[in-house]
Amino acid sequence: MNGLLEASPSDGSRCPLCRACDAIPVIAKNGYTIVRCCVCTLLYVAPTPSDAEMAAHYQQSSYFEGDIDQGYRNYAEMEKALLPHFQRRLRYLEVRLGGPGSLLDFGCASGYFLELAQQGGWQVTGIELSSQMAQVASERITAGGGRVFTSLAALGEAEFDVITLWEVIEHLPRPLETLAALKAHLRCGGLLMLSTPNTANWQAQRKPDAWVGYRPPSHLLFFTPQTLADMLKLMSLTQVTIMPVSPRPPLPTWVEHATASVQSQLADGSASPWQFWLYTWRAVRLAGLGWQRLVHPGDDVYTTLESLAVKPA
Ligand SMILES: [Zn+2]
Repeated sequence: MNGLLEASPSDGSRCPLCRACDAIPVIAKNGYTIVRCCVCTLLYVAPTPSDAEMAAHYQQSSYFEGDIDQGYRNYAEMEKALLPHFQRRLRYLEVRLGGPGSLLDFGCASGYFLELAQQGGWQVTGIELSSQMAQVASERITAGGGRVFTSLAALGEAEFDVITLWEVIEHLPRPLETLAALKAHLRCGGLLMLSTPNTANWQAQRKPDAWVGYRPPSHLLFFTPQTLADMLKLMSLTQVTIMPVSPRPPLPTWVEHATASVQSQLADGSASPWQFWLYTWRAVRLAGLGWQRLVHPGDDVYTTLESLAVKPA
């Protein structure tokens, strides 16, 4: 992180959401500039890295294993941390749909979510651009009738009851184009559900240098509840619902320091014994929420946004 920049005219890169040219530089990191659109307020990396640059970035073997700053220390170990989120999201989708149906997970990584869904009776398909991860996902779900492809084109005319994108939308250089292509594979009345970091949260606002969400070039877009809802409405999706999740209140500095190691081990799945540290951290967060109400009552404490939208008939 190179700190906050002075406001200056935009370099001319258009906003990926509203196509406006006017944007103000906000933060520089990893050699990239994050700007705020003067029209729709979306934060995005400008100029957008080239497709070749992005392809090279994701084919690095270290992205899913070993790269803490840009990717994942070890995605396989992280599954423990992801499990409660995936179980909760599956339950939510089953309630909304009235039971399991057909599901496409775009950016399925190693297929962990697809495997859980398959075990719950869903017919699952994955898209994963990293051929290495697509292979892992494929080995996981093929025996149960699931399929994994490395491009949307391979889907043909297939339609799905549900399409999910978990922590994917912020990686896309052309989000509207990708969402339009995905929407074509969603049946009328079908559900689009996604998750993304919440740029309105207190850490992104008050301590941007410390916020893990500002991670270009892996992350190119940075959503607030408002800009996320705007994007889904722009796609002519209806019944748009934004759900802030994963509260992470600010803590007194000494508590931050004392819990830094536990936080990092819970985030990457390596904390041991797992249940003990998980419940300890939940208790600390609960106490932190009380402290936040007193000291920073205006803070948005949620680290993640989830959204649900429906394709109209
Ligand atoms: Zn805009």
